[in-house]
Amino acid sequence: MPELALCVLSADCPAVLVADPDAGIVGAAHSGRQGTARGVVPALVRAMSEAGADPARMCAVIGPAICGGCYEVPREMRDNVAAAVPGAGCVTRAGTPGLDLRAGISAQLADLGVRQLRVDSRCTAEERDLYSYRRDGRTGRLAALVWLAP
Ligand SMILES: [Zn+2]
Repeated sequence: MPELALCVLSADCPAVLVADPDAGIVGAAHSGRQGTARGVVPALVRAMSEAGADPARMCAVIGPAICGGCYEVPREMRDNVAAAVPGAGCVTRAGTPGLDLRAGISAQLADLGVRQLRVDSRCTAEERDLYSYRRDGRTGRLAALVWLAP
């Protein structure tokens, strides 16, 4: 519906916005660690495709998120997510096990045939003007919005 905006709130987790302008279909997902491992973005792309969208026409945006250099997690957690999402596992700048969720989501989108992808590479933990739960604990949320222009 043209008058309806979809919104994702996050503070370190990637927001993913997807649109097929020709089909008039948009979607949004909050793809944090668990959502990425469980395939929330592939589920979104499949749902949009079932509604008439085509991954070849889709354009996707991944919003600011904590980067792989900052997002340290326990080794077992890193290995479990990386097993589910090739490309998501990494090593942090401190040399510890980490997750690069944007890399994992980018790979998921590529696997589904979504070729028009823009990634906001800003790191929420490093950029003081972005909200980061990991950096600040109690903090605000970034809003990512997508809607159909009338
Ligand atoms: Zn970072």
